[in-house]
Amino acid sequence: MKQRVAIVGAGVSGLTCGVVFAKRGYRSAIFAQDIGQRTTSGAAGALWFPYDAEPVDKVIAWALQTHHALVDLSRDSQTGVSMLELRSFSRTGETPIPDWANSLGARRLHPSVLSSEYASPARTEASLTICPCAFKSGFTLNVPLMDTTIYLDYLAKRFVAAGGSIHGNVRFEKLEDVGREFDLVINCSGIGAKTLVADVGLEPHRGQVAIVPKIDNLSCAIVCDDAPLMYAIPRTNDCVFGGTNELSGNCAVDPTSTSRIVAECSRVLNIDKPRVLADRVGLRPFRKSGVRLDRGRLRDGRTVLHNYGHGGSGFTLSWGCANKVFQLAQNVR
Ligand SMILES: Cc1cc2nc3c(=O)[nH]c(=O)nc-3n(C[C@H](O)[C@H](O)[C@H](O)COP(=O)(O)OP(=O)(O)OC[C@H]3O[C@@H](n4cnc5c(N)ncnc54)[C@H](O)[C@@H]3O)c2cc1C
Repeated sequence: MKQRVAIVGAGVSGLTCGVVFAKRGYRSAIFAQDIGQRTTSGAAGALWFPYDAEPVDKVIAWALQTHHALVDLSRDSQTGVSMLELRSFSRTGETPIPDWANSLGARRLHPSVLSSEYASPARTEASLTICPCAFKSGFTLNVPLMDTTIYLDYLAKRFVAAGGSIHGNVRFEKLEDVGREFDLVINCSGIGAKTLVADVGLEPHRGQVAIVPKIDNLSCAIVCDDAPLMYAIPRTNDCVFGGTNELSGNCAVDPTSTSRIVAECSRVLNIDKPRVLADRVGLRPFRKSGVRLDRGRLRDGRTVLHNYGHGGSGFTLSWGCANKVFQLAQNVR
């Protein structure tokens, strides 16, 4: 008989694992302190883009598998996944196009989109006028965008439709506290693993975003990883302005950061500052030694599969990691 599976965590990692197990007939339940929008996943951008996660070789392999799965999902408008042009810029110099981006058809952006020599703002192919002095180089490629306001609900509904159940407001002090009726425990607790399994290598990389109304003519995502981190991501009903990345476990909104984010995005996009509809903070679960995806034993003898520490790439790695978790679950006694 198939094992009964308990998944701890209802962010993108837990929900995706839930779908993978439930659709293959496993009796699965998700338990979490917070679900959906209240998780770190609910605060994310969430573009497919490998960022702030280790180790690079595994991250790229999982990211490419996830890319494939998300392209498939983007064919169904109900999922909240769509394909979007991403323009990745640098303020400081010529950035090489990473191999993984080349393999997905990335192209260098023409200097007329970027050069500070141009007296008037440069009009991009996407009919957006970006500040002529903002960037020195960049590349473009099409990537999946997950609108978190739709996608997390989509995953939850798909999990429940496949027979799974979701239990919120459940906080475990340790994984052994998961009910004994479950033979297999999957740990998708994000930054919560710091206390849940006493992982001292897990660091909170705090991120803050401002949600603003839709920006006219912004039909591609603008991203710059050089400090100060900046991105503007158009979604179905609004636009996400970011961002920050600092070592901090503080989940409170910092109004100064919001002002800085809105000012920098507006400067780059050459627009008046929009009003802020909401601001969100999340703690990227960054793990110095890399994403934890392995099999172990709880003190009571049950098997546990860990799947946490995805840093700034939880969405980007979600399907690749969930499929790996499923592989690890095979032949478990
Ligand atoms: C501002 C920002 C922008 C980002 N942008 C992107 C992006 O563009 N692309 C991308 O791929 N990634 C992005 N990320 C990173 C991404 O959001 C994370 O990697 C991802 O959300 C991690 O998902 P998770 O499911 O592992 O953890 P979480 O979403 O944090 O979920 C953890 C779950 O575990 C539960 N939990 C924790 N401890 C316990 C406990 N003791 N008992 C019970 N339940 C517990 C929580 O309640 C929650 O349900 C961004 C992050 C931030 C903050």
